[in-house]
Amino acid sequence: MHGTRGSIPQPKGTAKYGGNTSCYEVVTGDFQIIFDTGTGFQDVVLDHERTTIILYSHFHHDHIQGLPFNLGVFSHLEDIILSSALVNRQVLKNMIQTYFSGGYFPVDIVTILKQLKFMNCSSVQRKLSPDCKLEMIELNHPGGSMGYSVESNQGKFSYLLDNEYADDQLDSLLAFVDGSKLVIWDGMFTNSELEYRAGWGHSSVEQACEFAELADIEKLSISHHSPSRTDEELDQISKMFTSSKVSFAVQSDEVKF
Ligand SMILES: [Zn+2]
Ligand SMILES: [Zn+2]
Repeated sequence: MHGTRGSIPQPKGTAKYGGNTSCYEVVTGDFQIIFDTGTGFQDVVLDHERTTIILYSHFHHDHIQGLPFNLGVFSHLEDIILSSALVNRQVLKNMIQTYFSGGYFPVDIVTILKQLKFMNCSSVQRKLSPDCKLEMIELNHPGGSMGYSVESNQGKFSYLLDNEYADDQLDSLLAFVDGSKLVIWDGMFTNSELEYRAGWGHSSVEQACEFAELADIEKLSISHHSPSRTDEELDQISKMFTSSKVSFAVQSDEVKF
C-alpha cells in the first residue's frame, strides 16, 4: 500500500496511516500491477523483472497526480502499460497527456516517455491470462469509477475506490469480491458525515463493516482516508468497527498471500 489518503495529500498528523493519495501495488507471477498513481506512486519501485501495468479507477487528480513524480518512470527501459476500464486507450492517452503538459505540467511526458504504452483493458486482460484473471465492475462515483479484482493461484485481491455505496450494489459487489483475501474499500466518511456529503462519491466506515460481515472475504481494508482525519481520529473511529475482518489501510503496509 503506497497511498491511503483521499483527495489531497496530508502530511500533518498522518505518520501512522499515511498521507499520500491512492496507489496500491500487487505483485503476482510475471506482473507488477499498480492501481492508480496518486502521490503514493512516487514510492513504487518499478520492477525490471516483471511487466508493469498501471490500472486507473478514474481520473480525479488524487488518482493520477503522482505519475511523473516516480523517477523510475523516466529511466525504465521496459514498457510501462497504462490502462483503464473506464475509457479506451486513446481517451486515456489524451487525458494523461492533457493533465501532464501545457499549462498544467512543465514537460509533455506522453511525448517524451516512449515506454508509456496505452492499452485497452480487454488487451490487458488477455495479456494477464491465463495466470492472472482481471475483472472489473462499475462503481458509483461522479464521472464514473471502475473497481478491479485480480486473481491468481496466490489468491484474489479486490480494489473498490472510489465508490458511494448504494443498497442496489450489494448483490453485485458481493459476487465481485467473493473469495477475496483482501478488499480495498472507500471509507472516507462516517455515516453521520455522509448525511451532508451525499453525491460526493464516497462510502462510510459503517458500510464497510456491514459489507465485510456479509461478504465471503478474509480482510477488508478501509482506504481513501479523509484528508482532515488525523491518526488519533482514525484510531478513535476504529473502536467502532463491528467486524473483525475490517481495519484501516496503513500506508507502507505489505500484505502477503
Ligand atoms: Zn479519490
Ligand atoms: Zn474520485
